[in-house]
Amino acid sequence: MTKGLYVETYGCQMNVRDSRQIVALLKEEGYSEVSDPKLADVIVINTCTVREKAAQKVMSRLGRLLGLKKRKEDLIIVLAGCLAQQRGESILKRMAHLDLVIGTHQIRHLPTLIRKVRYTGAPLIELSFSTGLYCYPEAPLPEDKEPCAFVTIMQGCNNFCTYCVVPYVRGPEESRPAEEILAEIRCLVEKGVREVTLLGQNVNSYGQTLTDGITFPQLLERICEIEGLERIRFTTSHPKDLSEELMACFARLPKLCPHIHLPFQSGSNKILRLMNRGYTREEYIEKIVHLRNICPHIAITADVMVGFPGETEEDFCATLDLMEKIRFDNLFSFKYSRREGTYAANMVDDVPAEVKAERLTILQKKQEAHTWEKHQALVGEKVEVLVEGRSKNSLMDATGRTPTNKIVNFPASEDQYGKLVTVKITQAFLHSLRGEIIE
Ligand code: SAH
Ligand code: SF4
Repeated sequence: MTKGLYVETYGCQMNVRDSRQIVALLKEEGYSEVSDPKLADVIVINTCTVREKAAQKVMSRLGRLLGLKKRKEDLIIVLAGCLAQQRGESILKRMAHLDLVIGTHQIRHLPTLIRKVRYTGAPLIELSFSTGLYCYPEAPLPEDKEPCAFVTIMQGCNNFCTYCVVPYVRGPEESRPAEEILAEIRCLVEKGVREVTLLGQNVNSYGQTLTDGITFPQLLERICEIEGLERIRFTTSHPKDLSEELMACFARLPKLCPHIHLPFQSGSNKILRLMNRGYTREEYIEKIVHLRNICPHIAITADVMVGFPGETEEDFCATLDLMEKIRFDNLFSFKYSRREGTYAANMVDDVPAEVKAERLTILQKKQEAHTWEKHQALVGEKVEVLVEGRSKNSLMDATGRTPTNKIVNFPASEDQYGKLVTVKITQAFLHSLRGEIIE
């Protein structure tokens, strides 16, 4: 009989990709995925700790799942991901029913560790960092038939933005060898994948830890040569490392989708300095202007934060002003959250919670107006969409994204899944577009 595996994922795309790898690895051990934790023999919670809210959400969910152990004694509950890396030891001490805690570099060892726990019956914790092992080339690829896939091209981060816990929980930056990445993408394409999103905390600095001298633009060029692959995306870029050479790729490489996610975090030079971001607002704007010159229809999205220590009304207005100047296609916006162990944790978290909330609301309202304006402008336009599968909203509809990463829902038959189609946009909403296939 197969054993049930239930995986729950929190946080970023890197975690989504890691969870897929967990599923693939445990499938080889005879597990099959179940959608109800009550049916599982192993439960994996893949966690995030980038903000306190994410960590709290995981903790309360974990508490509830641990209750399942009362009904099923041989159930194994695994805590994985960034929160596990950061607070695994103290969580294990507090939560008696937790069986296994693994850090961000231990995924490939998960099957062995689960077997060990089963054998000894004792809880286990493995948080060590490793080099070169993270990308497990020998691990099986995800099996789902989706036409889009995430491909991790590097791990960790050396930037140490003062607010950010990522360098501590994901370890130092390390790039994955190009040949390994290319082999994985070729294999994905053989399985029907048409679009890949290359993942890393700062993909712009790809290659710096490798000895073969390959740069990120050169990697993109080689990926473009893979026959059968239609689209390439990447995330995340850091403004300080966004080179001329990389920007030129948007004009030069036809498979590279015209969209860049370029977090700016704040529009105030004072705050950017305190954040250790390594660029000024003027430099950021200059890069966007350059990108738009090279590729006029490029979509620009970003991350931004409000309420960083020392952020005055004037600093916040500088953020709003930057938004007005750039007019982003979309923004991911957050309230600053103090993270233990970071440099900024030593600064006084002096912006009151209600001011953070108020600033976030103002910022999000402004962005909604900009997003709405961009979506409205697409009504009547013909856009190329990769049909990704069934829409969540309606059984009759399929869903896909434009090259600029906007979600489109439209009627389509199942034999069109995985294909590129031309869609005429008929209606705009705040979070998606509606259209009909015309070719
Ligand atoms: N490596 C990526 C993003 C990592 S975290 C980059 O450099 O862009 C994703 C986003 O979470 C960040 O861009 C930032 O906007 C937000 N974030 C990170 N730490 C945070 C904190 N302590 N409080 C609030 N938001 C945070
Ligand atoms: Fe965090 Fe900065 Fe690294 Fe992004 S670049 S992961 S925000 S330290």
